[in-house]
Amino acid sequence: MDANTSEGRLSSSAKAFIARKHKLLIDGQWVDAKSGKTFAVYDPSNGQQIAQVAEGGAEDIDLAVKAARRAFEDGPWSKIKPVERGKMVWRLGDILEAHADELAELESLDNGKPIRDARAVDLPFGAELLRYMGGWSTKINGAHISISAPGDWHAYSMREPVGVVGQIIPWNFPLLMAVWKIAPALAAGCTIVLKPAEQTPLTAIRLGELITEAGFPPGVVNVVTGDGTPGAALAAHPDVDKVAFTGSTEVGKLIVQAAAGNLKKVSLELGGKSPAIVFPDADLSVAIPGAANGIFFNMGQCCTAGSRLFVHERVFDKVMTGLSDEASKLKIGPGLDPATRIGPLVSDEQFRRVTGFLASGREQGAEVVTGGKRFGNEGYFVEPTILTKTTPEMKVVREEIFGPVVCAIRYNDDDLERIARNGNATEYGLAASIWTRDIGVAHKMARKLKAGTVWINVHNFNDVALPFGGYKQSGWGREMGYEAIELYTEVKAVVALL
Ligand code: NAP
Ligand code: MG
Repeated sequence: MDANTSEGRLSSSAKAFIARKHKLLIDGQWVDAKSGKTFAVYDPSNGQQIAQVAEGGAEDIDLAVKAARRAFEDGPWSKIKPVERGKMVWRLGDILEAHADELAELESLDNGKPIRDARAVDLPFGAELLRYMGGWSTKINGAHISISAPGDWHAYSMREPVGVVGQIIPWNFPLLMAVWKIAPALAAGCTIVLKPAEQTPLTAIRLGELITEAGFPPGVVNVVTGDGTPGAALAAHPDVDKVAFTGSTEVGKLIVQAAAGNLKKVSLELGGKSPAIVFPDADLSVAIPGAANGIFFNMGQCCTAGSRLFVHERVFDKVMTGLSDEASKLKIGPGLDPATRIGPLVSDEQFRRVTGFLASGREQGAEVVTGGKRFGNEGYFVEPTILTKTTPEMKVVREEIFGPVVCAIRYNDDDLERIARNGNATEYGLAASIWTRDIGVAHKMARKLKAGTVWINVHNFNDVALPFGGYKQSGWGREMGYEAIELYTEVKAVVALL
């Protein structure tokens, strides 16, 4: 076997996984879809089929929800001692770490991301997140409440798991998004039906195997692969108590409509068009690689990508030269090649979407500073691209591209209010970064920007303890930190007349 093909680069454990039949995890059993249907999964570096995976539908979602309901109401998960639940979630983090190489390979093969990123970011972050959330299991408390009404009262609040949760995740960080969703829900004592993205189901299936091996009771985590159909069925299901979604703003709106039937709780992590704002006093040796990482990391397929780069005219040319140099240093190739820094986009559909944006940018008069084309002639590779001479009306400036394409916008203003207004001129509000040496400017700007996360002299930095989520059309709710536990719990007030 050729060591330079995708398959040739896989370890024996990853190969063994690929060779297995990929089914649905329902009630602790691996089962075929009721319809018997399967769908193909592709290697985005060459468009070739890697595997066939069970194609779940509404009927399978219903069985999975029933299993999750039984596990929640009758099973041990919501009733075992918090310390035991916490230990199991922590242990799953250790198991993830023990399988990190295999999982990183599968992730890179399925999604296309550079294996060095999967190893350095997706896997360690996932393991850490499970441990962090496992730690919260023993710290989910209420309060004693003082009552003002006449009489003798004893009142307190308590937090209880919200119940059965449906979790629908995207393809940009397939395993990390799965962990991001299940970790706080498990820590809180919920049971889960997880629906991975159809483009990238493999690591969620492998995670399901590891969850089963780790001894989680049947029905606590169910994994139903498939396209948008099972996702829609999950969001609409009358016996699901909460739905958590990460993906496009467009589908987020459909989730809200579907959830209206039983008014299930909804949390959403949606798109972004995040500004990165470089002030003239910025340390460019930090700002240039930082802005490059902000847009090119994960081929720009990040909801927080710094896709609108505002640069003061005093440093604009220097930043453009530096950013172009950074872009040209990034080696493009298949994700599984350890030297690769830019892998393919996830799918043919995403490739068409991003190259469509490049064509529209050119048509509307944007100038290409670097990149701007497909790379190679097989697979879904797009060169890291910098566009200038854009106007606020252009599609490339307004819409989320979700590719390695940044719009560099020159500004010549020193008024923070106006700079912030331009940064905020988007329907999104997920993240923003500010690059300056002036701490007064940095913190004043942090207040003015309408974004769930504001970074100062860094972009795309996340931590398990930092609340993460969006203002405006970037979503509802916050994940990470204790805020994530709040998303998966209900508050009950108990009051007694003594
Ligand atoms: P998407 O359609 O929003 O997919 C996200 C998840 O939702 C997938 O699991 C998807 O299943 C599922 N889904 C699709 N339709 C559904 C419905 N009606 N009800 C319930 N679930 C449904 O995202 P996409 O089409 O893959 O990507 C399109 C654009 O979304 C990207 O170009 C990017 O701009 C944005 N996006 C954002 C994020 C983020 O992290 N915020 C992540 C991915 C994409 P299928 O896999 O079958 O579609
Ligand atoms: Mg879709």
